[in-house]
Amino acid sequence: MRLLFRFVVLPLLVLWVVRILLRSIFGGMNTQVAPKQVRPVPTTASAGGELKKDPVCGTYVSADTSVTKRINGQTVHFCSPACRDKYRAAS
Ligand SMILES: [Zn+2]
Repeated sequence: MRLLFRFVVLPLLVLWVVRILLRSIFGGMNTQVAPKQVRPVPTTASAGGELKKDPVCGTYVSADTSVTKRINGQTVHFCSPACRDKYRAAS
């Protein structure tokens, strides 16, 4: 019985203590690090001034100021109404 205790119960006890220690260390780290890791994704995705290519003349235009048209569920960006009309005539 003493051997059983030494090779089964004691290692399990040590593992249990180590797991609690690790959880308290990494658990404390996660609460400090997590907010910094989560935030950059939405801010970069929603940032204005994204450049879109005009498919007619190849000019890069800002998504905020461009002339847009929804074609087959996709928003296409143009530098001017003239390019938009040309694209409509070509397709
Ligand atoms: Zn254009």
